[in-house]
Amino acid sequence: MARRSPLKSHAGKQTEEAVWWVSMVEVSIQDQASDETTSAHAGILRIGKVSAALPNKFATTTELNATRVVGARDTLPGEVVVSAKLMYPDSLKKILKEDAPLRDFARRLSREGGGFEDVARLLFLIFKGEASYDEAEDLRTLLDLQYFADMDVVTVQQSSGMSPEDFASLLKFAERWMNQKGVDKPIMPVIQASETQREFELFSATVVKSKSHLLGVDMRGGFHYYTLRAVENIKRKNPAMWVHAFQVPPKIRFARHMLPSSQGMLMPYFGVDSYSRWVVPPPPVPLTKDKINVFDKSGWGVFKRKEWTGLHGKKLTCTCPMCKGQNLDGFYGGKVLTVLSRSKVHDHYAQQDELKKTSESIRKHQYARLIKTKKYANMFVGELKKSVEAETKR
Ligand SMILES: [Zn+2]
Repeated sequence: MARRSPLKSHAGKQTEEAVWWVSMVEVSIQDQASDETTSAHAGILRIGKVSAALPNKFATTTELNATRVVGARDTLPGEVVVSAKLMYPDSLKKILKEDAPLRDFARRLSREGGGFEDVARLLFLIFKGEASYDEAEDLRTLLDLQYFADMDVVTVQQSSGMSPEDFASLLKFAERWMNQKGVDKPIMPVIQASETQREFELFSATVVKSKSHLLGVDMRGGFHYYTLRAVENIKRKNPAMWVHAFQVPPKIRFARHMLPSSQGMLMPYFGVDSYSRWVVPPPPVPLTKDKINVFDKSGWGVFKRKEWTGLHGKKLTCTCPMCKGQNLDGFYGGKVLTVLSRSKVHDHYAQQDELKKTSESIRKHQYARLIKTKKYANMFVGELKKSVEAETKR
């Protein structure tokens, strides 16, 4: 696929059309199967020439960087890569209003994508603090940015302060922009998780009405139950729609409790086809090894070192390139940053592996049975059922 650089932005119109004709991208889900008891689906996602099994976990640039830190010889498995970027009010303003920072950012994004030939890339901005946009002009800049950085899927994100009407008109604007530029790439509308089902539905109504094949959900680092209920409804009525959740935290905070259950592993339960982990700024207090969370394949839990020792002693439960031939001491060996990177790469391999089993179980009508064998996933489902019962009694 032809890569474009911002420096070539003044190429003649004819050339541009030729380039974009070559990079026409269509999205579909093939060979789909669904679970009868939950909203989980299995399938093959196709984005142009790229195909990926669903459900799946897709890497962010954070995991790709972690791979470099640990010096893993294999590149991370994954057919889709999310360029997830923390965006503070100042940096967003600069990108939207000034040429040089925009060009730098686009160049940085292009460079990151270099070397990944059979990977579909998309941009996701993590709006921090007051960072937001709502003007069509600003969206045009963000669309141009994705165009120059040659993203395969074009994201249109809801940001705080937008009304559902604003969002709907920005989506229309994006479609017009695509037509004018002759860009034939899929648009992924990305809606922020909200506390009520109604609010999420107000924003998603336009997306559903437009018959879009893509829906992004920004989990904003939390477990937003009513948003997931809305997502379930959408997926039930539109099974062909690819639903991707961004900013998924390691564990689930539900009904005022923090559960050790892996949130990512339970996203398919609610009709989410794929997810990517959260990207967070470095903590104010330097991280220590004992605070690093590690995903446990055996029960779909997430644990710190001490908790792990209590459960498994020094034994690891995984054979990914980070864990193979190691025990817990080996896993926690080296500098803090090395261990953190190792945990990210391990989480990615281990969760992708378990999602493969999830996919098989959905196809064999054994998804509910698989969850029962995973202690911490089962613990969450128990809590969920209790809470639904309490809700219906009220
Ligand atoms: Zn591992």
